Amino acid sequence: MALLLLAFALPPFLRAQSHHAQSKAAADLLIRDAKIWTVDKGHPTAQAVAVLGDRIVAVGSNDEIEAWHGARTRVIDASGKLLLPGFNDAHVHFVDGGLALDTVQLNDATSADEFARRIAERAQGTPKGEWVSGGEWDETKWNPARMPTKELIDPATPDTPVFVSRYDGHMALANSVTLRLAGITANTPDPPGGVIVRDAQGNPTGALKDSAMDYVYRVAPPLSHEQRLKAIKRALAHAASLGVTSVQHMNPEYADIAVYQELLQRGELTARIYAAPLIPGVDDQVKIGVRHAFGGPFLRIGALKAYADGSLGSATAYFFDPFTDQPNNHGLLSDEMHPISLMQDRMMRADVAGLQICAHAIGDQGISIILDLYGEIVKAHGESDRRFRIEHAQHMAARDFDRFAQLHVIASVQPYHAIDDGRWAEQRIGHDRASRTYAFRTFLNRGVRLALGTDWNVAPLNPMLTIYAAVTRATLDGNNPNGWFPEQKLTVPETVEAYTLGSAYAEFQEGEKGSITPGKLADMVLLSDDIFAIDPAKIREVTIATTIVGGKTVWDANDDAIRKKGH
Ligand SMILES: [Zn+2]
Repeated sequence: MALLLLAFALPPFLRAQSHHAQSKAAADLLIRDAKIWTVDKGHPTAQAVAVLGDRIVAVGSNDEIEAWHGARTRVIDASGKLLLPGFNDAHVHFVDGGLALDTVQLNDATSADEFARRIAERAQGTPKGEWVSGGEWDETKWNPARMPTKELIDPATPDTPVFVSRYDGHMALANSVTLRLAGITANTPDPPGGVIVRDAQGNPTGALKDSAMDYVYRVAPPLSHEQRLKAIKRALAHAASLGVTSVQHMNPEYADIAVYQELLQRGELTARIYAAPLIPGVDDQVKIGVRHAFGGPFLRIGALKAYADGSLGSATAYFFDPFTDQPNNHGLLSDEMHPISLMQDRMMRADVAGLQICAHAIGDQGISIILDLYGEIVKAHGESDRRFRIEHAQHMAARDFDRFAQLHVIASVQPYHAIDDGRWAEQRIGHDRASRTYAFRTFLNRGVRLALGTDWNVAPLNPMLTIYAAVTRATLDGNNPNGWFPEQKLTVPETVEAYTLGSAYAEFQEGEKGSITPGKLADMVLLSDDIFAIDPAKIREVTIATTIVGGKTVWDANDDAIRKKGH
């Protein structure tokens, strides 16, 4: 005991370096009696872990780890619960998510009337000059399903601008006030990469697809600093409660990154952020001279998000062949791809600068074109460890799996979309194409690395829903209890690995996090139940008991103080 106390009195930098048994330092935190799945191939399971500062220093049995127990060591007795590395969500829209936690909720509306009623209620409580936005509506959940129009909401919103998004972010509905503000009339042309949906007379219905939404974004009031800060704090608390310890923020505005920096300096960042601003701004990062993963453990930049196409739900994903249910439509390339050489130039500049490219591509031809562009980059600049990513990689052409692997492209996928879109995807693209949809197993078999995420707020941030989706592929409508294209199911260990180490690899951080390994950052989650042992159908009910980031508890289901701070 005396020796341990002596060791504890040493300054931290000496403690961290003293590996000699007799002068072994005392840990700041011990977790014992856990069932640990480390995601470390060398030592897949363990019972206890010791943390010094923000790092894991030892992983082993209760007895082995007891040697790190000092007088001031905080001890968590896990009572046999499952301990995993913290989840790393490789694709989120963190500010949108934080905002959505406090906007009109339309996603679970079951009819057009309910949709209209909720917007009317929200408009009543909205101060003059502010907009009603967000929403995440999904008309496929309505009975009967039909595309909403401005007539549904105009009567209740004569003075309030309304611009509510479809859940996939590729379509939104404006009321007449908003159309007027945006200057959209029957004479307004469709912009490249976008559609103004029109009625039989050619008048706008209020629904705007993809880049047509920019007409409205141009006139919408920007978020205030205060609104942005609040949204991010709400998002951080939500992430902590769900065991998400790292997020990769796609399409942040620069002002979002400034808020992260502010929270970091205040010590209030409770999740690690990797931010990938949109590729049209490539020269900003090029000029500064940052490369991929520039920054520190809590905040990194150096990636770029690009858009090849739209989404399946909005019928704007770009396919070789027309949609089965829309014979004259095979999707849209995004405005960034008009012309494709524009995208190529930007990608080339990014690559020369050492920036990482994360390209959204959903339709088979959209994916194929991005693979072409990635191939051109390798041809022009030679092989290097650049970790190209394709975000979503939803609908693969059969011949492109091998190319995906050869170019070492990471498939950044969101399994929840599979059980959501799986309800109707086959009607839209037919059986053959659907068989290569969310083809997680085929990717692994062909040697493609997976990074897992949610696309929050397009899908829920909860990792248990993602794991449930990947493991069961049971569509949300209950029509495929044994799995939609069950041959593409992942196992629980594969899913957990892709969600931790796989996502860390996708941000060049596999040496720093993604497994419970001595030397790595102490980001860990304790689960209410053992997802390896329970019926997979029950995984979606599992909750997070404790979330630890850098050795600090940022969420504890039983700690009222932490819970309150989080809300
Ligand atoms: Zn996204």
